[in-house]
Amino acid sequence: MFESVEGVLNDLRAGKMVIVTDDKDREDEGDFVMLAEKARPEDINFMMREGRGLICVPLTKERAQQLGLPPMVHRNTALHETAFTISVDAIENTTTGISAQDRWQTLQVLLDPDAQAQDLARPGHLFPLVARPGGVLQRAGHTEASIDLARLALALDPGRSGHGEAGPTGPRRKAGLVPQEAGSPGQAGAQPIALLVEIVDEDGNMARGEQLEAIAEKYGLRTISVAEIIAYRRTREKLVERLTTLRFPTRYGEFELAVYQDSINHDTHLALIKGELPSDSPVLVRVHSQCLTGDIFGSLRCDCGSQLERALERINEEGCGVLVYLRQEGRGIGLKNKLLAYGLQEQGLDTVEANQSLGFKSDLREYGIGAQILRDLGVRKLRLLTNNPRKIIGLDGYGLEVEGREPIEIPANVENRHYLEAKRDKLGHLILQ
Ligand SMILES: [Zn+2]
Repeated sequence: MFESVEGVLNDLRAGKMVIVTDDKDREDEGDFVMLAEKARPEDINFMMREGRGLICVPLTKERAQQLGLPPMVHRNTALHETAFTISVDAIENTTTGISAQDRWQTLQVLLDPDAQAQDLARPGHLFPLVARPGGVLQRAGHTEASIDLARLALALDPGRSGHGEAGPTGPRRKAGLVPQEAGSPGQAGAQPIALLVEIVDEDGNMARGEQLEAIAEKYGLRTISVAEIIAYRRTREKLVERLTTLRFPTRYGEFELAVYQDSINHDTHLALIKGELPSDSPVLVRVHSQCLTGDIFGSLRCDCGSQLERALERINEEGCGVLVYLRQEGRGIGLKNKLLAYGLQEQGLDTVEANQSLGFKSDLREYGIGAQILRDLGVRKLRLLTNNPRKIIGLDGYGLEVEGREPIEIPANVENRHYLEAKRDKLGHLILQ
């Protein structure tokens, strides 16, 4: 898997542009993206002529601070909180600031580690964008996608030894002056700075779907989606840290409790471990998403509380197994929104419709964190306690072999029958058969 990502990184290192698309539910657009340090005036001209959108320079918050680039506005009300800084022009060697050559001159200042705030005129014709530190794992936008791609491409560049020497295309730039966030990909000396433009078609509308494919074909460019970059990073980077492991006696039996923190939202997740976990035979596993109302208060609006209880009993009976407890309330939408959705259900919508009417996809839960916790505990093969066939799809890509599934039998009650029917009919859960 991920040959397409590797191909894109190779193209970027070679100085080529790629097309980055985002989700159909988000902006649904494609951008030309390239490494800023590889850009030539003719590439900027190509972006002006074939992209027709706004030419922007994604960079890190640290870089924006070094160059004294504050946000364009104090209170960002852009639809997707696009983090524009004040726009800039190079003070030297430019006239109008807007020609391809002038914008390239400005880009050289943004790239130069010795550049100072006073080397840039404000406002200007090039638009820096500040990426969130967590990249696409924090915000699924083109800004973050470009910086993640730049980091990944530069870190893998064999031309950069990491000994403080600039790569072959950056003789003027000294390495090692742009700080990297701890744990982020990219080696000292590489500057994750990108160049992008939205692709607008000749009629002035956003180019989408088949039009983008035709453009990619015409210019021989690779296309990658933000979702592919998210999947790539989620699979390859370690996103969980074990904070401690405790003895944990419960009324279901004796367990060990492993406490994890994820590096995306800094949420605390738990793993209740029973017995010694073998790495060569399947371990009985339950990945349970937090449901405050069901787990704690025994709400009968759902079956979470009973599933949690039954799973702990079952793992205890087995004498060996893990229950991973993920802090993603209400299928990932949070407690407040879950309860608002309950309100809508009182008005007759089912659980799936209620989430959709609040603007959420029916199930935002991500199992990557759960998969990484299981890997950290040494689990390689598992039998999953679940009624949800999608959970198996979610765990597959992380080097975990799902060798079987054991349903958790929970009888429906008068309160949750409608909810369980919606889960069965709309989300494919294997219940009430
Ligand atoms: Zn629940």
